[in-house]
Amino acid sequence: MTDDLVAVCDLCLQAIADGEGALEVDTAAADRAARIWRERVGPDPLAVFRTTPGARPVAWTVRHGGCGSAPRFAYTIAVERVRSWTALLHWWTHLADKSWLPATDWQDLMVRALEPRQAAVSGILPSRPRDLRGGPIGDRPEDRLADE
Ligand SMILES: [Zn+2]
Repeated sequence: MTDDLVAVCDLCLQAIADGEGALEVDTAAADRAARIWRERVGPDPLAVFRTTPGARPVAWTVRHGGCGSAPRFAYTIAVERVRSWTALLHWWTHLADKSWLPATDWQDLMVRALEPRQAAVSGILPSRPRDLRGGPIGDRPEDRLADE
């Protein structure tokens, strides 16, 4: 059985084998971005980081261990732990409790994995081609490509 997902290095655009890379983000930078954003928007409970004009999320990087360098305060997920859709969902659930997550581009990383029309060239991507006719959220069963 092949993996659902492939990790492609943001720096060299090559696939990352198990044990050779990770998804990572600078949590200190995300904490700082979240704090600055909160000072700017005030206590509004309906304010959302990613939809606030001018808010700049801290980018997750998907890279080989030897490509680029890790941030000083990195949160790291080894690529071999994100090879299936269920693993990805599990990570999203786990990360949802982190105060710094909304100040990162995690949601954009996930949308690029989920939405074939986003045409991402790196990051976490489906290992099999996906039907471009799907609806805006989720795939209708009749539009799914047959599983090999
Ligand atoms: Zn690389």
